[in-house]
Amino acid sequence: MSSASEITGAILVGSEDRRGERTFTAIDPATGAALAPAFQEATAEHVVAACSLAAEAFGSFSELGLTERASFLECVADEIMGLGDALINRAMAETALPRIRLQGERARTVGQLRFFAGVVREGAWIDATLDGALPDRTPLPRPDLRRRHVAVGPVAVFGASNFPLAFSVAGGDTAAAFAAGCPVVVKGHPAHPGTGEVVARAVRAAVAKCGLPSGTFSYLPGTTQALGAALVADSRIRAVGFTGSRAGGLALARIAAQRPEPIPVFAEMSSINPVILFPAAARSRGAQLGRDYVASVTLGAGQFCTNPGVLLYLDGTDLDAFMKAARTAMSGCQAQTMLTPGIHANFSQAVGRLSQHQAVQDVVQGQSVEGVNRAQGGLFVVDAAQFAADEILRQEIFGPSSLMVRAASLEQLSNVVDALEGQLTATVLFDDEDAELVSTLLPRLERKVGRIIGNGWPTGVEVCHSMVHGGPFPATTDGRSTSVGSLAIQRFLRPVCYQNLPDKLLPAALRNENPLKVMRRVDGKVVI
Ligand code: NAP
Repeated sequence: MSSASEITGAILVGSEDRRGERTFTAIDPATGAALAPAFQEATAEHVVAACSLAAEAFGSFSELGLTERASFLECVADEIMGLGDALINRAMAETALPRIRLQGERARTVGQLRFFAGVVREGAWIDATLDGALPDRTPLPRPDLRRRHVAVGPVAVFGASNFPLAFSVAGGDTAAAFAAGCPVVVKGHPAHPGTGEVVARAVRAAVAKCGLPSGTFSYLPGTTQALGAALVADSRIRAVGFTGSRAGGLALARIAAQRPEPIPVFAEMSSINPVILFPAAARSRGAQLGRDYVASVTLGAGQFCTNPGVLLYLDGTDLDAFMKAARTAMSGCQAQTMLTPGIHANFSQAVGRLSQHQAVQDVVQGQSVEGVNRAQGGLFVVDAAQFAADEILRQEIFGPSSLMVRAASLEQLSNVVDALEGQLTATVLFDDEDAELVSTLLPRLERKVGRIIGNGWPTGVEVCHSMVHGGPFPATTDGRSTSVGSLAIQRFLRPVCYQNLPDKLLPAALRNENPLKVMRRVDGKVVI
């Protein structure tokens, strides 16, 4: 039996370590060197085994008491913390992300698990709703009707490369699925397989400690699209959580839609997160905003889904202080190592295309640094008419670059907003004097995004009850949802109504005496 932080390269199917027929290696993006050990490639056979176990586990896991389920989430958090520095060291080697960032991400990951434990205990997510019988109603009596939310079934989770902890094996999707009562099968991201394995072992240890069925969790590492496709196609999987590329999210959504029994895919994909800089703000505090803009663009080598890829402003805005500060800040920025050679190659190509585009001017570049997979930051500028006319200019560039878009009038700025695809966020930088302009644009922005930020920056997502980390397509495949915050639990639930069932046959949350002591709506009134 391996200790929790040992990395063997195994496939974790329930409580068993399995081997595949082929192996792959992790890469240290800072050097390009392979990292030991060899990782087993999971196959369709492992998908079948993991999904059958998950289906077996579903019945008992989904009906677990609220306290027991919450304790399980807390136990996963404790097990992850118990991995200590071994987890952080491995994640640093596989992602080139700095220690402090990964420590912060670990805190967020365990905080998220504990947050969902609180959500589970409180029980509002059950949405227990009771409409009593009206036997004397005319012309027809009303039956007794009661509703609760139940778990949808086993969930497939695809982690992202850019958050090896918070959006990966035990990240937000897994925490929300567990909270809802769904067993989870994770397709491990090939960019951080060692990190993935140690976290998977921590989850497995929590499953065992809490006496849960082994199929509550499985971990399938691999590098082939066939693996992810087989997982989504497996009839026992009832929903999918995904964070990553638009092409990947859409491919999986197509597979899910073409199943004999289609299932929902909650994919968070691409976003350019427009920031609108209003004239009075640029005039009064341009220098500070210029520095903050570059800090947000280059944070984590720009590898955030909320990276501000576009900054819109009105022609005639006094940009002197803003531009001077932004140029100085960016020209002092050293190139940073990106997460994978593939992400670096995509970034270099996309920036090359932008730089050579006849309508685009280079504003400033960051410093280059010797070494592999290093991304040099950059700011560019283009006219709004060109931006609106060329789809290439509106595509996400994953990395430390941003395009400034100059609009000739408020009408043109509004048209640009209308022409944007769905986004995770929109940011408005304004002073009091700008308030009227802001209020003109707010309804348009609301139609496009999941989160509107006033006088801040989009990078940084709080895990809380009101957070929306989602947005209309292509930010996500389902703009009615979020992948961060307590609302995420809803993605893995569905409502069931019970009509005229006697009290003793009703689930506990709906019985007359409310034995779970959860908040309920009874005959239209919220009762606590
Ligand atoms: P990705 O390439 O979409 O991969 C995410 C996961 O999905 C991986 O496990 C991958 O497995 C799997 N996958 C991707 N395409 C698939 C397909 N057609 N069929 C089956 N499985 C598939 O994302 P990434 O590696 O994290 O980053 C690549 C690019 O995604 C970045 O350059 C960036 O543009 C974008 N990205 C966006 C966000 C965001 O939040 N908006 C976050 C991260 C990345 P395999 O690799 O084994 O196929």
